[in-house]
Amino acid sequence: MKKAIVKVLVINSGSSSLKYQLFDMKTGERLAKGLVERIGCGGPKDHTEALRKVVADLGEPKDIDAIGHRVLHGAEVFKDSVKVDKAVLAKLDKLVKFGPLHMPANIGGIRACQQIFKGVPNVAVFDTAFHQTMPDCAAMYAIDPKYYKKMGIRKYGFHGTSHKFIVAEAAKFLKKPVARVNLVTCHMGNGSSLAAVKNGECVDTTMGLTPLAGLVMGTRCGDIDAAAVLAIMEAEKKTPAEMDTLLNKKSGLLALAGSSDCRDICAKAEKGDKAAELALEMLAYRTALYIGAYNTVIGGADAIVMTGGIGENSSEVRERIVARLGALGVKLDKKANKVRGQVAVISAKGSKIPVVIIPTNEELMIARDTVRVLG
Ligand code: AMP
Repeated sequence: MKKAIVKVLVINSGSSSLKYQLFDMKTGERLAKGLVERIGCGGPKDHTEALRKVVADLGEPKDIDAIGHRVLHGAEVFKDSVKVDKAVLAKLDKLVKFGPLHMPANIGGIRACQQIFKGVPNVAVFDTAFHQTMPDCAAMYAIDPKYYKKMGIRKYGFHGTSHKFIVAEAAKFLKKPVARVNLVTCHMGNGSSLAAVKNGECVDTTMGLTPLAGLVMGTRCGDIDAAAVLAIMEAEKKTPAEMDTLLNKKSGLLALAGSSDCRDICAKAEKGDKAAELALEMLAYRTALYIGAYNTVIGGADAIVMTGGIGENSSEVRERIVARLGALGVKLDKKANKVRGQVAVISAKGSKIPVVIIPTNEELMIARDTVRVLG
C-alpha cells in the first residue's frame, strides 16, 4: 500500500535566501519555519549547503514524505503543479529566460533537495499556474503576434498560489463549491495583484509578462504607458537593465512618497503629507478601477476578497478602496473594518457585494498541492 503523505516540507528558494516551512498534513499544523540568508554572499556557498543547514535546524529529520517548491514561472508549459522528474527539470531549465533572477534559484532548490533528501518526491508549484485559464482576449497583448510565437510575450500573472488559496477559502466561507464561485480576489502587499475568478477559474489578472504590471505597489509602478518608458530611456540614456531597476525597485509608493512600506505612507498622510495622501489615493483609485472592471468581466462577484499585508491589516487603505465602490452598491461597515489578520466580513449588512478579509497562506497551499499531485 502507498504510504500516506503526512510531513511536507515547503521550500521557497530565492537568489540569496531560502525560506522553509514544515507541515503535518494530517492536522494542517505548521511544525517548523525558518530562513537561511546570505547564500553565495557570506553565508552558505550554495543552495545545497543552505539546505544542509535546514536539515540541521530540523534535527536531521528522517520522516519527510514530500517536498513542495515555490517556482516563479511555469509559462505555458506548466498549467498546474507537477511532480518533478528528469523531463520536468529539463523543461524548467528552458524557462529560465522568463525569470532570470528567480528561476535559477528555484531550480537550484529542487536539485539540492534531490541530492539531500534522496528518494523523497519533489513537487513544483508555480506562481503563474492558476492564471493559465485566462482566455486569449485577456492574455494577449495587441502587438505583432510574432513576439508571442517567438518569445512567449503575453500576460501570465503571478501570486497564483495566493489567489488559489483565497478562492478555496472564500468558497468554504460562502458555502459554495469552488466551481460555482465568482470572485474578485485582491492580493495587496509589497507586490499586489487582483484576479477575476469565474466559476473558480482565473479569467483575468493585473500582473503581466512580469510582476511589473497592474496596481501601484511598494516599489513597482504598475500600469504605465510604454511610450513613457521609452521617453525616459531616451532622455536619460538608460539601458534596459537600468530602466528595469527604475520601474521595479525605485517606483511605486517609494518614488511617490519616500517609503515602500504602506504603514509609513499612512502615517505620513495622517500628518497631512500631501505626497503620501496622493500616493494612497492613487493606490486606492487603481485598485477600485480594477475591482469594477473585474466585476463586469465575471458578470457580478459573489464577494470581493482582500488579502496580503495591506489587505489583511490596513483599515485605512481598505476604507479608501471601498469608498470608491459606491456604484457597485458596496458599503463598508467601519467598525468591522477595524479587524486585522483574520477572516472577517468588513462590508455593511446592506452591501450588494460582501467584502471579505481572508489571510493568505501560500506555504500551506503549496503543501496541499504537493499532497494532491502525489495523490
Ligand atoms: P506583504 O508583502 O504581504 O508582506 O505586505 C507588506 C505590506 O503590508 C507593507 O507595505 C506593509 O506596510 C503592509 N502592512 C502590514 N501591516 C500593516 C498595517 N497594520 N497597516 C498598513 N499596512 C500594513
